[in-house]
Amino acid sequence: MISFNMEKAGLYIHYPFCRKICPYCHFIKTVKREELEDIYLKNIIRELELLKYFNLTFDTLYFGGGTPSLLKENIYPIMDRVFEFLKTDFKEISIEINPEDIDEEFVRILKDNGITRVSVGIQQLSERILKILGRAHTLDDIKRGIEILRDNDFVLNYDFIIGVPEEGEKDIDKILNFLDKNLPDSVSVYLLEGIKGKYWNSFKSLSDEEKVKHFNRLENYLEEKDIKRYEISNFARAGKESIHNLKYWNYENFIGVGPSAASLLNSERWENKASLYSWAEIIEKGKLPFKEKIKLSSEERAKEAIMMGLRKIEGIKRNEFKRKYGKFPEEFIPFFEERKEFFEAEDYLRVKRENLLIFNSILSGLFN
Ligand code: SF4
Repeated sequence: MISFNMEKAGLYIHYPFCRKICPYCHFIKTVKREELEDIYLKNIIRELELLKYFNLTFDTLYFGGGTPSLLKENIYPIMDRVFEFLKTDFKEISIEINPEDIDEEFVRILKDNGITRVSVGIQQLSERILKILGRAHTLDDIKRGIEILRDNDFVLNYDFIIGVPEEGEKDIDKILNFLDKNLPDSVSVYLLEGIKGKYWNSFKSLSDEEKVKHFNRLENYLEEKDIKRYEISNFARAGKESIHNLKYWNYENFIGVGPSAASLLNSERWENKASLYSWAEIIEKGKLPFKEKIKLSSEERAKEAIMMGLRKIEGIKRNEFKRKYGKFPEEFIPFFEERKEFFEAEDYLRVKRENLLIFNSILSGLFN
């Protein structure tokens, strides 16, 4: 057994099934079928047992997908194995849930298993836009579901997708009206990107200016309510930020289980096989089901830490970074002088607020 002397790690459990497939989705998922889920459940438990090898202590757990709320009572055996096989000291256990899966019985399952944070995939508050997105839930599911969740003491996060074709100011009004009555602890706002093909050609897409305007309306509203932006797409009240997701942005260790799940452990990074069958086949042989382990040099680690850290609104603490990687973050960025106008560099190196929405394009060319 290898024992790593380091901070506690995050554990991510990927559940790869959905009720139906949304036409904009780029995640690794498939429609739920019982025989596939059986293979998954049998092997996720075995994969958790294999993690004993790392001798890590986990302090966050995140069920993501796919649609992990379809797990229902199957959360019990998974959590039982987590506690049986692994060293844990959980500060947060999160799950992504779809509105149509919320009922009293499901809340009981979440409570029984110590879930502390739920992230509800609301996406939009207009039936018309939900249909365009191909979502399985309705406005009634959202209202009923949030009503049930609000009576419990979960840290509550809402996921929204904006910039959807045909979306107008009125659709943003609907989101703001809903928030007025049902303000959560944290909110994620994603801009719909990378959609193409016949299905999407039949709708009127938004200009970049319209998308930015819609995003800014939500951002201004949330900031006024003291739900502050702390990452490009994430807002939270003070102390309600996602502890698990901050591990990614702070470039800390995490281990992912399930098909396609990624892991980072000190100077190694790997990704699991994406196909359910290949993933299961390797686990059945008693091995960790990754495709390939990548050994990162100290320079590669520094660059990855910069890419993740710049996603945070506060940016990267320059002195701390230098202590860890030997140089200030900007010294790793080629042609930094020519790119300086995108950044602020004092105690922290950060992307200027007005450039955050074009962050991905800044990032893709950052180390070229
Ligand atoms: S429910 Fe979520 S993971 Fe499943 S297809 Fe839709 S967007 Fe993708």
